Parts: sequence; C-alpha cells; structure tokens
Amino acid sequence: MSNTQNKDYYGTLGVKKTATSDEIRKAFRKLARKYHPDVNPNDKKSEEKFKEISEANDILSDEKKRKVFDQVGFYSDQIDPATAEAYARQQAGARQGPPVDFGGFDFSGFGAGQAPAAGAGPQGSGSASWGSFKDIFSGIFTGTEQQRRGRGPEAGTDLEYQAPIDFWTAIRGGNARIEVRRQEVCPTCHGQASTGAPMTCPECSGTGQVTQMGGRMKFNIACPRCQGSGRISNACPTCQSEGLVYRTESIEFRIKAGTRDGQRIRLQGKGNAGTGGGAQGDLYVIVRTGTHPVFTRVGDDIHLTVPITLAEATLGSKVDVPTIEGGRAQLRIPPGTQSGQKLRMRERGVESASAAGQRGDQIVTVEVQIPQLNDERSREIMREFAKLNNQDPRVTLFDKL
Ligand SMILES: [Zn+2]
Ligand SMILES: [Zn+2]
Repeated sequence: MSNTQNKDYYGTLGVKKTATSDEIRKAFRKLARKYHPDVNPNDKKSEEKFKEISEANDILSDEKKRKVFDQVGFYSDQIDPATAEAYARQQAGARQGPPVDFGGFDFSGFGAGQAPAAGAGPQGSGSASWGSFKDIFSGIFTGTEQQRRGRGPEAGTDLEYQAPIDFWTAIRGGNARIEVRRQEVCPTCHGQASTGAPMTCPECSGTGQVTQMGGRMKFNIACPRCQGSGRISNACPTCQSEGLVYRTESIEFRIKAGTRDGQRIRLQGKGNAGTGGGAQGDLYVIVRTGTHPVFTRVGDDIHLTVPITLAEATLGSKVDVPTIEGGRAQLRIPPGTQSGQKLRMRERGVESASAAGQRGDQIVTVEVQIPQLNDERSREIMREFAKLNNQDPRVTLFDKL
C-alpha cells in the first residue's frame, strides 16, 4: 500500500456505492473465479488484478472499514473511525473547493506492527508520524469552529482604575477627575473594521482554500486570511481592522460625602466600547483616599493624638481639640487621665456614605507631656509632691513574678 491515491474499490468490484454486502460478496466471487492465480498460472496481470479485487473486497465487506473508506476516500488501519467521522463532517460543512488531497501521503511507514504511538516517534525523512497527522486534522476543525462563530456583537470589557482622592473631598464629597485609556468605536469605519466593498482574497485568489503541507501530506484547508469565504474587506487604516481605537479621556465623576478608601464606584457605560453593536463596558473606580497630617481616618471614625499637660491630666480639665468640621471642640479630660488613654468624642467623625444620618466618632489619644523643671521653685514643689504621694507604681510588677 504505497500510494492510496485514486483507489476506487467500488469500481474495482464493479458495484455501485450503494451496493449491499450481499451484492459486494457476489461481485467479488464472480471476479475471483475469473482472476484466481490457480485459474491463471504465471499470469502477472491476473495476479495483480486478483490482488486488487481482494483488497477491495477486504475493505468493502467489512462494515467498519467500508465506512472509513466512504468518509475519507481511502482506508488505513491507522485511521481512527471517530477522526474519519469528524473529517467527513468537516468536508460536508465546507461544501466548496476541492476535497482534502491525500496524494503523496506515504503509508508505507505505517505498516502493521510498526505504527508509531500517537504523538511519539520522530518525524524523520519527510514522513509525518500519526501524531502529527491527527494534529493537522484538529487544526482543520479548529479553523472551521472559528469560521462558524464569525463576528457577532461583542460587549465591551469593563475597566478598573484606581483614583487618588483628596482627604477632604472623600469626607465632604465633591467632583473628581480621572484619566482613562479606553477603547472607542473607530470613527473611520464606525466599528465595521473595514471600509468600502469586499474584494477577492489575494491569499487564495477567491477560492477560499489554501494548500498546507503536513509531512508528505498535502491538505487543502480553509484560507486563514478570508476564513474560507474567498473575499476580504478593505482593512480600516485607522483601527487596523479592530473596529476600535484607544483614546485617553478625562472622566469626571461624583464623590459622595463619606466615601471610604478602597470603595468601588461604578460608572456605567464608561468602559471599553463593544463591537458589532455590542454594549459598552463599565468603568470601575477604586477610591484611594489621601492622608492628613493631624487626622487619621479609620472607616467613619477620626483618630488624632492630643498632647495634655501633667496638671491637666492629674487635676482634670477641658481642652480645645480640632475636629474635621473645622474650628474647635471642647474635650473633657477626667482627673487622673493616663498618657495614651483614648477618649471618645461621639459623632464628631465622618458622615456615613452608606447609612444616612449616621456619623462616626472622633477618638482622641491623650499624650501627657512631662514638663522639664528648669527652676528651683518647681523642683521644690515636685519633691514635696513626691513626699505626699509616695506610692510605688512598680509594686505590682514584682507581685506578678
Ligand atoms: Zn482567502
Ligand atoms: Zn476603523
């Protein structure tokens, strides 16, 4: 079986393609009686003929082999029936141009007992391994799949950008801007990806088929340039046939009062443009709030550190502290306040963006500042103070040992 091209088993047996197995058997018997070597001793021609009809009978009398032959146009033990089936479907689907041409495919390397395992075996001396044979088939089918899908409407993709927002804008609300690089419908071709009327594909001269070599096999496959249609459109020079162009745009958006760091704002229809009439994507802005030298924002609460004097901490007092509203607010320091203690100022924080009417707190960390005593009178007072208050603050430390 060195060359399988143009084998016509039906013609060899003189039967129709629709012949039943009974008709095939009868036709073979009739011919076998005529060309059998016993009947024609030393007749080379008859011997050849007998070989031919035997081969034809071998294939056509076997239901499985006959099916593969019908689908692919030749038979080899190496052909997987499922592949033959898929191949036949692909051919039926293409409907135009010449069928896949197996001419020149040398099956001699695939004789019984020496078939290489799929995917294995070196691809030497121009003969394709069975693995690559399958690969070529799968390539054909992938191409057809893509062709079938075509270019329908496709929705634009969403975009996500981080937007740095000023500390005060996030708290009080306002407008912000962001530079966004997004895809827009091409103004030249209006998203059609082509201009003018379609023309004949130069790659395949309009046939829709091109020849591809796989080892020593020749295949006619759907032209990759025109996807088998034989015609191509004039590529749009503006968008290189993408139908879309990139444009950087400054987009203004509203920041709600109380917007938190990390919050996601959806700007509908501000993402990438769709193609073929597909919907516009959305733009998601992730808010990154700025910091402040005095106030630290944690959710809707505001934290700050306020220094107080030793006298304020020990005797208690009322001190002025800044708030995010501007101006001052009075904070009561209870007598005996420790350094590092946190005092809560209810509803002096940020107005909630999500829960209307709610507000966070302001949390003040007091930091007692120990005075430097630079005069003898102050030191005298402190010594006297120490005498009156001679508790040992470290006594519990030792208790726990
Ligand atoms: Zn083409
Ligand atoms: Zn265009």
